Amino acid sequence: MNHRLQAVLDIALPERCVLCGRPLFGCRAGDFALCRYCCGRLEWLAEPRCCSCGAPLVGEQQRCLDCRERCHGFDLHRSAFGYDFRVAELLHCFKSDGIPSLGRFCARALLKLYHQLCEGALLVPVPGHPSATRRRGWDQARQICRCMQQADGVAVCAALRRDRTRHQKELGLVERQQNLRGRIRLAVDPALIAGNSVVLIDDVYTTGATLDACCEALRPAGVVSIYALTVAMDL
Ligand SMILES: [Zn+2]
Ligand SMILES: [Zn+2]
Repeated sequence: MNHRLQAVLDIALPERCVLCGRPLFGCRAGDFALCRYCCGRLEWLAEPRCCSCGAPLVGEQQRCLDCRERCHGFDLHRSAFGYDFRVAELLHCFKSDGIPSLGRFCARALLKLYHQLCEGALLVPVPGHPSATRRRGWDQARQICRCMQQADGVAVCAALRRDRTRHQKELGLVERQQNLRGRIRLAVDPALIAGNSVVLIDDVYTTGATLDACCEALRPAGVVSIYALTVAMDL
């Protein structure tokens, strides 16, 4: 949207920052409902980070304690932000209130990582829980991928499908792994993704169990590398 049209819309339909409530006129951080002040206070995760899952390292070298005990299916995961109260509120507003411009915010954060780490990889949205997708009428990871595609023209392939499972939120790590076993499947002709590097896209990283289940479904299709990018890491 051009700046003049945005300025007219800001006066005609005043929009407020989803985090602090201040009117966005004159202090917009971008084409999404966040002010510059709140945007500047979001905490980007910095190095040093685990070379596998991307968790911030405290004293360890290269690999976090968790990744020394178990191998993940992806080659590299990175989150843009830590899951603090601001990011939690932002993702809540995106998913529960369906504020579409926040999808553009998530997309911009992930595109920054995409261009640094996995330029050229095919975007594959992590399929959400079928009942949540049905209730909402849309899926958050697909929506973020769509916004990434609109912003930068990156290719998207919704290659995975998820069968009904219990909600991961209620479960511990071992239960999460069992709950997902065989429940995430390839939904496209393997020839569409064979020989490509892919990057899984999701909103929140918790234990990595969902990403690992996606990798199990993708590896047999002959993908070269599997990266994973999420908006926030909840450790
Ligand atoms: Zn604000
Ligand atoms: Zn790790």
